[in-house]
Amino acid sequence: MRNYGHRAIIPLLCSAVLLAGCAQKVVFRIGRPLVGTIVNLTIVAESEEKAAKASQAVFDEIARIERLLSPYDEKSDISRVNRNAAAKEVIVSAETFGLIERSVKTSDATGGAFDITFASIAHLWNYRDPNFRPPSDAVLRGALPLLNYRHIVLDEKKRSVRFANPRTKIGLGAIAKGYLVGRSIALLRSMGVTDAIVEAGGDLQVSGSRDGSPWTVGLIHPRTRNIIASIALESGEAIVTSGDYERFVIYSGKRYHHIIDPKTGHPAEGMASVTVLCPDPEEADALATSFFVMGKERTVRFLAGRPDVRVVLIDPEMKVSASKSLRGRVTFLEETAVDWF
Ligand code: AMP
Ligand code: MG
Repeated sequence: MRNYGHRAIIPLLCSAVLLAGCAQKVVFRIGRPLVGTIVNLTIVAESEEKAAKASQAVFDEIARIERLLSPYDEKSDISRVNRNAAAKEVIVSAETFGLIERSVKTSDATGGAFDITFASIAHLWNYRDPNFRPPSDAVLRGALPLLNYRHIVLDEKKRSVRFANPRTKIGLGAIAKGYLVGRSIALLRSMGVTDAIVEAGGDLQVSGSRDGSPWTVGLIHPRTRNIIASIALESGEAIVTSGDYERFVIYSGKRYHHIIDPKTGHPAEGMASVTVLCPDPEEADALATSFFVMGKERTVRFLAGRPDVRVVLIDPEMKVSASKSLRGRVTFLEETAVDWF
């Protein structure tokens, strides 16, 4: 059994025509396959023409970012780094450099739970392989030293990346979607679109509102895939989920998913779904992956210093806990016992 690219957060939309002030506005929804998922835009605009122009600009921008970061494009910055950075310094674009630099900072802040050098061992956990088998302990032990963000050597002046370990690789899968969602909302705003949702594979940011009421999204249950809660979002807020049901394979009755615990080299245990809300989608993305690895206790401790970051956690037994500050904004559709912390 295998599954890729399920969305964990979905926009909940009702009417398509809004009355904003006196002028009638229309809600446009358009999706396009990009960055290995479907990017969905919801745009409130005066005319179809304006919405089409704005959405095209966003899709072009996302395609541009994909060309910089995709590991499947051999000309991308990330592919060039992975090919050459063990032998020499590789100069990358300012955007790629910034993302790598912030990734390393997140590694420091999360005690190494977030680590883009996971890519050094990702081939051992290829959930896409029809003949998937978990790697042996010996193989994993041999590969684990490659996974360490301290192998990444950055030179800010030269904007260069080098690897201190000859077999280390990086991948920005845990942060790139959040980044491009944020860039997309900024682009829409610069084009005069104030009310919008950008969603890429469950990473989502909203701007403005839906005719004066908050944009509302649905949170998916990690096993039944039903919507279990609706969450009202403030303008500018981002919401991102990392889940063990997005990309995984079941082998001998055990679930092997796509988020690696850098300490063990195994798929992280202890969480089934981690949803993060905060103003910055890139940070929400990076933190959702980090908290998934860290588990509840470490996440709660981390959050003590970050009142601007809110979470809904679902553990493998489907027990739900959530930030107290979300009370009143999250509506559970079925009776759900929630540990508010
Ligand atoms: P997300 O869906 O944002 O949680 O990102 C998961 C993706 O990030 C995976 O498919 C991998 O590409 C990558 N990844 C896996 N484990 C880690 C980790 N510990 N730190 C950073 N990136 C990771
Ligand atoms: Mg992430």
